Amino acid sequence: MTTHDHAHEAAVGAAPVPPASPASAEAPAAPVTSAATPSAPAAPAAPAAPAAPVTDWADFGFDTRQVHAGEYPDRNSGLRVPPIALSAGYVFDSFDDQIDRFAGRALWHGGGLTRGDGTDPVNELAGEPAPIYSRQGNPTNAVAEERLASLEGGTAAVAVSSGQAAISSALFALAQQGDHIVSTASIYGGTRILFGRSFKRFGIDFDYVWDADDDAEWDRVIRPNTKAIYTETIPNPRNDVTDLRRIAAVAARYNLPLVVDNTVGTPALIRPIEHGASIVVHSTTKFLTGHGAAVGGAIVDGGTFDWDAAERAGRSYPLVTAAPRPGVPSLLDRFGPLAYARAVREAVVNDIGPSLSPFNGFLLHQGMETLSLRMERHVDTSLRIAAWLEEQPEVEVVDYAGLPSNPLHEIALRDYAGRTGSVFGVTVRGGIDGARAFVDGLRVFSRMTGIGDTRSMVIHPLSSTHASFTPEVSARLGITPGLLRLSVGLESADDLIRDLRAALDRV
Ligand SMILES: *Cc1c(COP(=O)(O)O)cnc(C)c1O
Repeated sequence: MTTHDHAHEAAVGAAPVPPASPASAEAPAAPVTSAATPSAPAAPAAPAAPAAPVTDWADFGFDTRQVHAGEYPDRNSGLRVPPIALSAGYVFDSFDDQIDRFAGRALWHGGGLTRGDGTDPVNELAGEPAPIYSRQGNPTNAVAEERLASLEGGTAAVAVSSGQAAISSALFALAQQGDHIVSTASIYGGTRILFGRSFKRFGIDFDYVWDADDDAEWDRVIRPNTKAIYTETIPNPRNDVTDLRRIAAVAARYNLPLVVDNTVGTPALIRPIEHGASIVVHSTTKFLTGHGAAVGGAIVDGGTFDWDAAERAGRSYPLVTAAPRPGVPSLLDRFGPLAYARAVREAVVNDIGPSLSPFNGFLLHQGMETLSLRMERHVDTSLRIAAWLEEQPEVEVVDYAGLPSNPLHEIALRDYAGRTGSVFGVTVRGGIDGARAFVDGLRVFSRMTGIGDTRSMVIHPLSSTHASFTPEVSARLGITPGLLRLSVGLESADDLIRDLRAALDRV
């Protein structure tokens, strides 16, 4: 199903201006161009026409899609790499084109950045409305959005300015004041702070489930006003991989959308929608962009959640399912499996404004071209380092689910072929003093916050990412004084091991 089916239906939120009948409107005046008209070259003897370019990459492999999905060969300039479209606004072809764009009736159809042959909207997968203003959509970001939607197996994606903006926008489209969300307890520290502070101030409450395998615990916290279940694929710092299928079964039982942060997993290692997720969020700052130079985020619509069934079960999602005004169809009626992405774009991101700079959007779609290759190296090196660390006498424990000794190794094997990313925990002996000596002894690993960079990094969670947590919560999450988080980069594994060994000598 594509947005094309809906492209000419009446608009949500549109002013009741009827489209002009073509007969009644004169064509707009031709734009000013150079006065000189070049004469056409003589037609050569006709060889077979070149094959038409691929515009739908859905049937191609992951590595092909990460290079090509979302690209648009530009007929005007011949640019092979989708350029950085630094423009706040867009020219409307005519008075009526403006009406159509504001009514959401127009899809991409050129306007300087020609897609396909300039007439067919080839961006249907992402369901891009023709742009009005770069707060709502931008052609550079659309490349990244379509590429990520393709890699995650979703129907559409929306790029935003950070991972935190992605999480906020994803959940604001589902919940409002008086609502409630349930999250697994082991999540990114910044997300827990976001839930406990800003969401709380907006009247959206959270409960945490500590043992996701315990159905009774889910049953205790899910309420009639619960609007989503939230989790992560590979939480950091402890690489305690989540059993997505199990949580998806709970979400299905309660008619709740399952929102999954796949920042640390990336679609190269796991695609949560295949395991029952409804919505995927990313901090694209990390592995997707891949080089630590640009903050960004994205929301992917799986297109699979049954909004009607949820409504029948008493859970309302007005931004998706309600008529914005009497007589105007809902986004669900108009856009079907793309409705949630449309709600995020039009009703949350466009209102609140955490839009992605096209400069960072360019770095993101470039970064994704090499995602699977980078993840392969990140994980190969991590597996080697984790196994090596486990053998060192100064190390108390290594938290990496890819290791056979890890209690979550079975899930790692089933869902990740044993390859659980490159962000994991290591606990050195000596508590905080051991941690300090180790961290200060590292010369190749950078001491910094952040993960998913080409560079290897280290941080002490208890005194940084988790510093604002109560001692009880930190203890329950296993954030101990000797625990360090490593993010293994793309350097030579031998050099990283040498660096770690020299630092352990100081413990
Ligand atoms: C970094 C991170 C975020 C926040 O992303 P920003 O781009 O820093 O806003 C959210 N979730 C996870 C898992 C992260 O690693």
